[in-house]
Amino acid sequence: MALSGEEFDVIVVGAGVMGSSTAYQVAKRGHKTLVLEQFDFLHHRGSSHGESRTIRATYPEDYYYPLLMESYKLWEEIESEIGYKVYFKAQHLEMGASDNECLREIINTCHKHSIPHEILDSRQVAEKFSGVFDIPGNFLGVFSEYGGVIKATKAVSMFQTLALQKGAVLRDCMEVKDIRKDSVKGGVWIHASNGEKFWGKKCVVTAGAWTRKLVKTVSGLELPIQPLESTACYWRIKEGHEAKFAIGGNFPTFGDSGEPYIYGTPSLEFPGLIKVAVHGGNPCDQDKRPWGPAKGLEYLKKWVGEKLAGLVDSGGPAATQLCMYSMTPDEDFVLDFLGGEFGKDVVIGGGFSGHGFKMSPAVGRILADLVLIGEAEGVELKPFRIARFEENPRGNFKSFLSCSSSEV
Ligand SMILES: Cc1cc2nc3c(=O)[nH]c(=O)nc-3n(C[C@H](O)[C@H](O)[C@H](O)COP(=O)(O)OP(=O)(O)OC[C@H]3O[C@@H](n4cnc5c(N)ncnc54)[C@H](O)[C@@H]3O)c2cc1C
Repeated sequence: MALSGEEFDVIVVGAGVMGSSTAYQVAKRGHKTLVLEQFDFLHHRGSSHGESRTIRATYPEDYYYPLLMESYKLWEEIESEIGYKVYFKAQHLEMGASDNECLREIINTCHKHSIPHEILDSRQVAEKFSGVFDIPGNFLGVFSEYGGVIKATKAVSMFQTLALQKGAVLRDCMEVKDIRKDSVKGGVWIHASNGEKFWGKKCVVTAGAWTRKLVKTVSGLELPIQPLESTACYWRIKEGHEAKFAIGGNFPTFGDSGEPYIYGTPSLEFPGLIKVAVHGGNPCDQDKRPWGPAKGLEYLKKWVGEKLAGLVDSGGPAATQLCMYSMTPDEDFVLDFLGGEFGKDVVIGGGFSGHGFKMSPAVGRILADLVLIGEAEGVELKPFRIARFEENPRGNFKSFLSCSSSEV
């Protein structure tokens, strides 16, 4: 247990998947590490709780490729270190109209990085997946072996357990209300709302949907990170067809690159149910959540009814789970130094925009590199810099529309 006034090499603010992965990486390198979390560990009020997250290599933005490949490798390495499974292999299918710009960019990324893939027409998609998908004639499928499901809460717990084993101190129910520069001896003072304070040579802020609020308080900088409330929906597979959708078989993790973007995972966490959900959600105040209703439910019912060959009950989800996105205008992450009077002493990892979980092992490694050595090896950080919003408030330019910008 850390005592008020105690000193650390690195203090991590926020114990979602990004903070926990970062703490694991920092502690593993032998640095004295403190993690402060405002709620209970593994709470359900942020972005990292729940049963499953998709992992896939087929991205329209090619700069995610190194983070994805590193993460596939790290998930397996870290699993062996803890001794239980959090990653479940699956194939992946991306689909969309043949002229869909996002799908075209996914194919370009596959070519650019020689990601093994097959481009399938609608008939070939039906054949390959034993008739469980029924997509229109003008659609294409991009098939890849790089899919999979990560057990979300279990993975966060894994990072926290390993961080603890490596000597990190973890404290929950500790809201950080300010970070102040120590202009005498350097480093920063982290002030908690209960009056305790801790000194850190360096600090990493991984505060999820609270990042904008905390960064504004600390430095006055207004990061364009918007909290959204998103809903994971689980649908009942019709009796007798359950095996066709089970993980470990032929059924893939999948995405439909239309507007809105739809994604889904094989049946794993709840027997007889599969997850099919809309990427995106309703803008919200992270401290005054509406707790529903889900965005795009009517569209989703139609999608399930039409595209899953009538094998899944499309009357409505059998179960739902609410969660938060921290959305940037370009849906790209923020991995950067806070700058200003804090220079390189405070690092920000935020804005994971509803697609960060799969890359959390690489993100933790990158944030640890930034805070410990001032640069990250093997990755081009330009797309993730804060300065991109100064040049263009919408951030990085993309030829395809933002997946979640459309109203449904
Ligand atoms: C419904 C849904 C589906 C998703 N599906 C996928 C998917 O299939 N694949 C994928 O890769 N990603 C997916 N994601 C995205 C992924 O889950 C997130 O990108 C990731 O969990 C973000 O983690 P985080 O650590 O940044 O945020 P969080 O998990 O929210 O962690 C931030 C933590 O900081 C704490 N905190 C905030 N402020 C303070 C403070 N002042 N003091 C102390 N603690 C503080 C919070 O309480 C919180 O615990 C999905 C997200 C949702 C919501």
